Amino acid sequence: MTRHTEKRSTVAPEDLRVLLWDIDGTLLRSVRPGAFKDYVVPALESIFGTAGRIHEMRVSGMTDLQIMGEALREHGISDEHVRERVEEIRTRFMIEMERVAATASADSPLFRLLPGAREILERVRERPRYRSTLLTGNLEPAAHLKLRLVGLSDFFQQLRGAFGDDSHDRRDLPAIAAARVNARLGQTLRPAQFIVIGDTPNDIACAKHFGARSVAVCTGRFDSHATLAAHNPDALLPDLSDTELVLETFDAL
Ligand SMILES: [Mg+2]
Repeated sequence: MTRHTEKRSTVAPEDLRVLLWDIDGTLLRSVRPGAFKDYVVPALESIFGTAGRIHEMRVSGMTDLQIMGEALREHGISDEHVRERVEEIRTRFMIEMERVAATASADSPLFRLLPGAREILERVRERPRYRSTLLTGNLEPAAHLKLRLVGLSDFFQQLRGAFGDDSHDRRDLPAIAAARVNARLGQTLRPAQFIVIGDTPNDIACAKHFGARSVAVCTGRFDSHATLAAHNPDALLPDLSDTELVLETFDAL
């Protein structure tokens, strides 16, 4: 296998840490709560004829396939059925998402960056110890659209992580991301060299399932400091705004 050529100063493989970033509630959030339904509902209705019970659901921390599966289950549409139509879902979802994105403007954006997100991504990019990639419940093209809308695309061009179209179960995602990262870097990194950063108990749970470390942030809409603390992340931060504190936290893991 051809080794990926490092542009930065080299670091011993055992010292590398791969940061697996969640998107919603961690790097950015929608300006209007529930805005995702503006595109998910028409996408589901056009494919399955119904959006099921999506209006009643609290979806943070779930993968997009999981959200669709749970919304449609009572309508006799199985997870398997959803999976079989993932290509169509991806296409329809992006048409609706682009349509909604086109209605946004600088004065009225769909998403806003959370405090410190850009700064910490810039800082870790300068450090040879770190690589950043995504671990998100968003469908892959939806993840990239959101990042583009807030100007974070540049940070995630190098390594492919794991996405909501990879599995219904977020606990599967760290292993999928790790396999892609290892293949790209020509390494076999240990699970503990991966750090999941997210805002929900599901982020912490998926890290533990794989043996990765977890850093929880309290910038999600639903989960309080106490709720996240009860799931025992390796570190718990109020947000990403104190760049030095975030770096020290990563350095200790
Ligand atoms: Mg999240």
